[in-house]
Amino acid sequence: MGELRVEVFGHASVLLEIQGKKIYVDPYSEVHDYAGNPPADLILITHNHYDHYDEKAFSEIETPETTYIVSQNVGRVDDRYTVLGNDEICTWEGIEIAAVESYNVNRRNPSGQLFHPRGVGNGYVLDFGGFKVYLAGDTEPIPEMQDLPKIDLAFLPKNLPYTMTDEEFVKAANLIKPKYLYAYHYFEIDVPKLKKELDPSIELLN
Ligand code: ZN
Ligand code: ZN
Repeated sequence: MGELRVEVFGHASVLLEIQGKKIYVDPYSEVHDYAGNPPADLILITHNHYDHYDEKAFSEIETPETTYIVSQNVGRVDDRYTVLGNDEICTWEGIEIAAVESYNVNRRNPSGQLFHPRGVGNGYVLDFGGFKVYLAGDTEPIPEMQDLPKIDLAFLPKNLPYTMTDEEFVKAANLIKPKYLYAYHYFEIDVPKLKKELDPSIELLN
């Protein structure tokens, strides 16, 4: 499909650009001012937490033509929204977009509920004519990661108490074995340490 341009804004906010189409993932106004950014053709949302579903960020980049592809716990806010449940697939502008599972196994809030219960939030696998990008969302290492297709570029979260420890991040990455990897959603990162622990076939881009 031609060159894929990737811009990482911080937290879980990413811009993927292909053939002039702008795909914003989880835009978040606390980490970036979107006022100067080009309008969104597609806004992809992993789940309904305020740091992923941020109307202030949307207001800077959305147009009446912007498509939203969102998780079940966001829901169909207006006509521009398509809701994908886990394991559902749609095609947008020739790009296959698969919603995959993204959830906590162990990590809970003080009242005992998992921060990200299973089945309501999405990770996504985007297939750009064979080049596959995986955006994991807020997840721990989960068995479903074994069933992912061959991933070329992966975004995996790394932060406590909501997603993964460094050890879990490395374990998930070494299981998925993407060609290129970004850690995202982190508060601190030790790149040299991670590079030492990652499979040598994986290129960490942080
Ligand atoms: Zn979350
Ligand atoms: Zn989050």
